[in-house]
Amino acid sequence: MNLSTPIEKIPRVGPQYQKKLKKLGIKTVGDLLFHFPHRYEDFSTLTPISKVKARETVCIQGKILEINTTRTWQKRMMITNAIVKDDSGAIKVVWFNQPYLTDTLKSGTLVCLAGKVAMGKKSYAGIYLSSPAYEKISDLERKNLIHTGGLIPVYPETERLSSRWLRYILRPLLADFKRKIKDPLPDVVIKENELLPLNKALWQIHFPDSKELARQARERFSFQELFFIQLNVLREKMRLKREKAVPIPFNLKAVKGFVESLPFELTTAQRKSSWQILKDLEKPRPMNRLLEGDVGSGKTVVAMIAALNVIKADFQVAFMAPTEILAKQHFKNLKKLFKQFKLKIGLLTGQDCKISEKKVSKKEFLEQTNKGNIDIVIGTHALIQENVKFEKLALVILDEQHRFGVEQRAHLCQNANSQKRLIPHLLSMTATPIPRTLALTIYGDLDLSLLDEMPKGRKKVITKLVPPQKRKEIYKFIREEIKKGKQVFVICPRIEPRETIGVWAEAKAVKEEHEKLSKKIFPDLKVDMLHGKMKPKEKDEIMKRFKNRKSDILVSTSVIEVGIDIPNATLMIIEGAERFGLAQLHQFRGRVGRGKDQSFCFLFTGSPAIKTTRRLQAILKSENGFELAEKDLAIRGPGDVFGARQWGIPDLVMASLTDVSLMEKTRFWAKEILQKTPQLKKYPLLADKIKEFGKKIHLE
Ligand code: ADP
Ligand code: MG
Repeated sequence: MNLSTPIEKIPRVGPQYQKKLKKLGIKTVGDLLFHFPHRYEDFSTLTPISKVKARETVCIQGKILEINTTRTWQKRMMITNAIVKDDSGAIKVVWFNQPYLTDTLKSGTLVCLAGKVAMGKKSYAGIYLSSPAYEKISDLERKNLIHTGGLIPVYPETERLSSRWLRYILRPLLADFKRKIKDPLPDVVIKENELLPLNKALWQIHFPDSKELARQARERFSFQELFFIQLNVLREKMRLKREKAVPIPFNLKAVKGFVESLPFELTTAQRKSSWQILKDLEKPRPMNRLLEGDVGSGKTVVAMIAALNVIKADFQVAFMAPTEILAKQHFKNLKKLFKQFKLKIGLLTGQDCKISEKKVSKKEFLEQTNKGNIDIVIGTHALIQENVKFEKLALVILDEQHRFGVEQRAHLCQNANSQKRLIPHLLSMTATPIPRTLALTIYGDLDLSLLDEMPKGRKKVITKLVPPQKRKEIYKFIREEIKKGKQVFVICPRIEPRETIGVWAEAKAVKEEHEKLSKKIFPDLKVDMLHGKMKPKEKDEIMKRFKNRKSDILVSTSVIEVGIDIPNATLMIIEGAERFGLAQLHQFRGRVGRGKDQSFCFLFTGSPAIKTTRRLQAILKSENGFELAEKDLAIRGPGDVFGARQWGIPDLVMASLTDVSLMEKTRFWAKEILQKTPQLKKYPLLADKIKEFGKKIHLE
């Protein structure tokens, strides 16, 4: 057996369990061994039974005095009752729906039990141990107890895989693999960072001898995964440095002309970022830059400055947006702001092909692009899917798209510069505020430009937390705004109503809310609905209606796009605000306040808890996406904040993405190793791992 042995070959893993494991993505022995517990129960000290108290979690040892199973008629449940006794006293134990226990734990058996102490409903019923983990100790040495003694691993219990079963399978498997797995980390890295070697760490993360060792084991794996990411990213960066691109000279005249034609002054941050980009473009190596800036900070204009330089040097630009509407919005905007330059601007989406004002066939569009007759092609993913070929592509601009590999870039200009294999420059834009250390890790292959300043004269969006009793007033306010010709967003956390869990947990669901608003509250107004389960075409249709003022209120889940520009919408209502992260709330808020009129953002919460309210206070005080993201990061962890989960970043890494010193350490060592052996020839095992890891992470 080795790490890639399929789970079917593991003794004691039957077909049913194979299915469950596969659902969790566990296909091989290796996957199973690297399925880590997410926490441990501490049963390292035994409690004498007489000292057991209600509501504690305890581990006891004793003898089963009696045991029997009965069926309750009302609830159709099997209840196993037992009495367990040690030298100090006796306690009742109850299990539910495990009738076989009567046979497994016959009276007279010595057992170790670990679990929670419950209090009987009626006071005279006394305390009992409720569904504890159990283990016979007649045939097991104390130190070999795997379910009850010491620190017991608890695995994320999904697909009905119990921790008990996992422990039972993993223990012998780990024993089997002891000392057999080769460590991919270079010795020097292990030594200098005082990390546990792989085999020891693997054992200790599952069955730790102490809390300290459990911590060290986790640290070793966090280190390892972060180190892999860093290696990947740095290698990518080095690789790009060896690629060639067309150097684009800085066209001062054009840039000046453009900037002077704008109806506003550039912010200092916009100037600085443009400068960095133009400097990059002058180099004969592909630019690889991330332009990060809050919603409304004016990223598009910066991208346009870059585009203009490239076009003036007689090359083409591709500008990719995540959705049809955003592509169209950019198309319209660019046509307007570039008017004086008489550029050929094209639009290519799944539904539309246009060159400047003219609708054209797809065939013609592709032909013109291929001949180099279109200066800038704006589009959706269709840009990649439709096999668009450019004659002389020199810059790719990505709006709100996270990952875009060299492969895809090369694909965009495949036959154009085929002999020279020139790679276009890349400018990626995002409104997701990512703290710098984190950006260095995840986007370490990208250089970073920040728009950390808002254009002058923006009106602050008035933001308020609204107590439930003021809801009526807000509805009245909405009505008044709509009467003035304004439009309203209502954001809800979920699609379907779910059964309410208590009075305050009333979850606002889009459908429910839409029904309520359209039928009861505003029957005379046009209320539309938007959610993630709709088809893209439907979504576009609804957005278009809203944009064209055909609807007054748009009730939506969080799918509503970043970057969508509807200056006429001045009201943002957020239901169940406590369910969203601060950075996300901030992004919602960024969708109003785009016109000249005063805008408002009202937050309703389903929970009056002080903690929630306190967290939400941050959004009332701060208008800085970065600041809010940092707060989020501290409170909720990076997985939720940046959607890092979508990138396939393992949970363990996610947890350590807030650990700045670990990030710096791993980065340092990744550099160190790559300097000595850029191709990792000295570490073939590591090279393999990185490759595997890269595949997982470089998802779109
Ligand atoms: P985002 O960074 O969210 O993509 P946009 O590029 O869409 O922001 O810009 C938002 C709006 O702000 C646009 O209407 C744009 O014309 C305007 N804008 C950009 N820069 C400035 C500036 N320096 N001063 C005033 N308005 C600006
Ligand atoms: Mg934008």
